[in-house]
Amino acid sequence: MSSEKLLAIDIGGTKIALGIADHASFSSSGEFQRVEKFPVPELRRPELVIPVIVDRSLQLLAREHPVAVGISIGGPLDHERGVVLNFPHLPGWKDIPLASILAEAFDSPTTLDNDANLGALAEYHWGIGKGANPFLNLTISTGIGGGVILDGKLVHGVASGGGEVGHITVQTDGPLCDCGNRGCLEQMASGTHIAERARELVRERPGEGRRLLEMVDGTIEKIRAEEVLEGYRMGDALATKAWLEAAEYLAIGLGSIIHVLSPERIVLGGGVAMAGDDLITPVRERLRDHVFYIPVDCIDLQPASLGHDSALLGAATMVALEVES
Ligand SMILES: [Zn+2]
Repeated sequence: MSSEKLLAIDIGGTKIALGIADHASFSSSGEFQRVEKFPVPELRRPELVIPVIVDRSLQLLAREHPVAVGISIGGPLDHERGVVLNFPHLPGWKDIPLASILAEAFDSPTTLDNDANLGALAEYHWGIGKGANPFLNLTISTGIGGGVILDGKLVHGVASGGGEVGHITVQTDGPLCDCGNRGCLEQMASGTHIAERARELVRERPGEGRRLLEMVDGTIEKIRAEEVLEGYRMGDALATKAWLEAAEYLAIGLGSIIHVLSPERIVLGGGVAMAGDDLITPVRERLRDHVFYIPVDCIDLQPASLGHDSALLGAATMVALEVES
């Protein structure tokens, strides 16, 4: 009897997750039979990491070859050719034909997509995005990623460039982004930026930043987005300024997307969006100044419903759909 196992792989900057699912039951439940996570092996280069992924996956599969393999990774990639163009979190991960390497290793059809797209696919099939058309999923953590689903399908566009909402310009003279542009949404509203902005404000006005400083025992460098959120909840003026500035930039970026796509539902996920209504409410309010023609209340803005494994779930969903078609 031929294998009916799906293998999903999520490669992150610090950890790798593997998921095994039975194709038939996954298609109705969205559940894995087994999930395993391990730290990215030392030295972190592709020629050392990929064989470890293959070995650990084969152990998890009990040496059975999977019916299909789905891979999630962050950063720019070529979905059609299955090539990782650049994964900046790990050294040497440039122009790696990962899908064909793993297709050969597992002797199975293998598909690659980025974590933000796959997070969107998971929310669309199994989470709060279900059935929304168009649907936008935004992941706000150390960076900002996005995935767009139109008529039930991910929008990849030319050269797999669709959905890269983190690189919409929201301030023309803003800080330089890794992509070479200035003032990208990712540079103005990610968790990394929220923390940096709060540190900058505390340095400028130390007298007003006492509450934030107390939370980190007086060490400005220890201020993270979590402390900024906590400060915002406590009514701290500097934390509130940094938090609401990020909400404003998110509203500017989302406003641009809304004018193109008019999404039925927008879901905010990732570490920063764990703030729930403390992020959703100010973003919704600020959208009123950045969206015209479309009543803001028609757009359903919601926190993500799936946890940290949404990209792994999306990777399995992607290949489950391919096997069915
Ligand atoms: Zn950028």
